[in-house]
Amino acid sequence: MADQSIRVEKSQSRKAKPDSNNLVFGRNFTDHMFVMDYTEGIGWHDPSIVPYQKLSLEPSSMIFHYGQSVFEGLKAFRTQDGDVQLFRPEKNIQRLNNSNERLVIPPIDEELGLEAIRQLVEIDKDWVPDAEGTSLYIRPFIISTEPYLGVSPSHHYKFIVIMSPVGSYYKEGINPVKIAVEDKYVRTVEGGTGEAKTGGNYAASLKAQEIVEKEGFSQVLWLDGVERKYIEEVGSMNVFFKISGEVVTPMLNGSILAGITRDSVIQLLKHWNVPVSERRVSMQEIYDAHQNGNLEEAFGSGTAAVISPIGELYWEGKHLVINEGKTGELSKKVYDTITGIQYGKLEDPLNWTL
Ligand code: PMP
Repeated sequence: MADQSIRVEKSQSRKAKPDSNNLVFGRNFTDHMFVMDYTEGIGWHDPSIVPYQKLSLEPSSMIFHYGQSVFEGLKAFRTQDGDVQLFRPEKNIQRLNNSNERLVIPPIDEELGLEAIRQLVEIDKDWVPDAEGTSLYIRPFIISTEPYLGVSPSHHYKFIVIMSPVGSYYKEGINPVKIAVEDKYVRTVEGGTGEAKTGGNYAASLKAQEIVEKEGFSQVLWLDGVERKYIEEVGSMNVFFKISGEVVTPMLNGSILAGITRDSVIQLLKHWNVPVSERRVSMQEIYDAHQNGNLEEAFGSGTAAVISPIGELYWEGKHLVINEGKTGELSKKVYDTITGIQYGKLEDPLNWTL
């Protein structure tokens, strides 16, 4: 690894900040970005914070053709006393390297990656909004930049971090959503790239999402790609069910993304002595639990919404209404606790904030 110190070139001008009460996800970007290059034979080099700017890439850059890329998503929060804190950022850097491994991208130094995020957030800290429920979304990503059309791992890469102030996911309290169980398309399969955060997984998910949205559902529930029986994820979130007092979530089987919110939910439930298990969960099991009156709650988990309660599942022509379509008690408690920790309103018993 070449020189590890981060060069800083401050922007000469400052952009106007959007109204903190009216933020749209991922549309406005802060004044600065982090960039670091990889060149075969040298390694990752020249880590720099520079003014947010356009990239100049050859049209033959490998990223445009075969999609060798990875990304992450995390947030910085403004606490009540005006400080800014990150939620489990080291987990995102670890996951970035796990994704790198799958996509044959050279790993980044995790300490440097974390330091890059910390310094970038510090330089653009005025961009962390303070209205209720808002935050600064941080998007680290790596693209393959070698100008070459052969199908092989690139020899050059760029690691970039950009940031965008984002609004409250829920304008009027957390809201249950309607979900359709997807029976035609699959997101990925075991042995595929599902456990990596790589662009192709999201491109592959768009078709199913487009169809169910037209039918009035907000997301799809993805089933496994082999037997089409077992539940994997909901939209781009992990999924939990509360059945007869026990919380179950699909185990990480190679095609499910290891969500950091998922891990936080599991740790919190254990901390509260709520029974929780990671195992295979079939849609038939969920249907049966619903018919027997044992399906108490269902929710998705992810950085964007934290917790997204499922009010209704549509499967094989049947509408399964869960908890009368209302937000369950446990879903609400998990949501309030995680967001409370993120905004510094609650104690942080598991040392998640930095
Ligand atoms: N699954 C997929 C496919 C995702 O894109 C995400 C969002 N990163 C998640 C689950 C949730 O992960 P996290 O809790 O780390 O945001």
